[in-house]
Amino acid sequence: MRAEVVSVGTELLLGQIVDTNSAYLAGRLAQLGIDCLHMSTVGDNLGRATDAFVRALSRSELIVSTGGLGPTEDDLTREAIAAALKEAPEVDRDLERELRAWFAGRGVAMPGRNTKQAWLIHSARPLHNPLGTAPGWDVARAGWRIVAMPGVPREMTRMWEAEVEPTLGSGAVLRSRTLKLLGIGESGIEEALDELVRSTAPTVATYAKSDGVHVRITDKGADPEAVAERIAAMEAAIRARLGEHVWGVDGESLSRVVGAALRPRGWRLATAESLTRGDVAVALADATSDWYAGSVVLPGADRVALLAASDAFGADAVLAVPDGQTESALLLRTPADQTELVVRYASPAEGRRRVALSALDLVRRVLGLGTR
Ligand code: ATP
Repeated sequence: MRAEVVSVGTELLLGQIVDTNSAYLAGRLAQLGIDCLHMSTVGDNLGRATDAFVRALSRSELIVSTGGLGPTEDDLTREAIAAALKEAPEVDRDLERELRAWFAGRGVAMPGRNTKQAWLIHSARPLHNPLGTAPGWDVARAGWRIVAMPGVPREMTRMWEAEVEPTLGSGAVLRSRTLKLLGIGESGIEEALDELVRSTAPTVATYAKSDGVHVRITDKGADPEAVAERIAAMEAAIRARLGEHVWGVDGESLSRVVGAALRPRGWRLATAESLTRGDVAVALADATSDWYAGSVVLPGADRVALLAASDAFGADAVLAVPDGQTESALLLRTPADQTELVVRYASPAEGRRRVALSALDLVRRVLGLGTR
């Protein structure tokens, strides 16, 4: 089944709101193993919204739209779907009664213009919306299904999860496994993975993140065990080439794996940064890092000044990231030893991200993270 998401709303086209509904729906469809092949956004304009649905019907079997179900003139999604399917909307008496009851329950009379929220076309059934006034539409025609939901994210997600998702069994499962790497860049990884990045089952994709590069292995199929086996085989193949760089998997955070390495040694770590202005602290520690002794940021500081400033934390281990125009000589001092790493760059602005990643990699190597 090919699916596509249509977002309706001029606010989206003006950049006044970000289309989080599409991102949410794309993620849910992927989890269900349904291919979402297009996303489009259209303003509150009947002609263009109708075109968007006609185009979607020409290439997808499942069309999921959000927005434009309100009571006002520029809420046009119902009209657009009806026009695309050449059906005429009519007031559904049951829906109208429910809507009147919704307003009566809040002690107000229903404004006349809300009547259009009780419209249905012949091939639509209503999707209930206990959180608002706009019911959705679930339209079924031979070979097609259009699901139209309100734009308000809270109303939409409830409707999707309670009313739509249970009716969408694709029979396939989609699974992913993410390996998290430090000490090698995206291009180095692609080179090492070579033919593996062109694999289609599973697929392998790389993403540059603040805690290194993530390599995501994804597969889908009808048999969950076969999917898991293919992913495990690919993980083994990737680890055979890049295993020394892998510090964690899936939801693991640097904070957690660093903590797991420090606690048995009884060490607490502090960071003192100049060039990276606190980036290393942010990537390394979160609110639950009990092993984290403290962080100091001193612009224009050399290693001596950084180590002196971090004395106040009484940490067992200190990571220093000095400033420098073209190089930074990082230092990680632990009760066992001290390790230096010089990183060179063209300008401080260019070097900042690279130095932050190198500093995290230094921690990874010295603490032996991810060696399993
Ligand atoms: P309702 O009648 O319940 O207000 P509606 O279907 O008329 O819903 P819209 O008027 O299109 O929805 O949007 C209502 C609000 O929902 C917007 O002002 C915005 O805050 C939010 N919203 C709409 N579309 C999106 C979207 N794609 N992503 C995130 N938020 C959205």
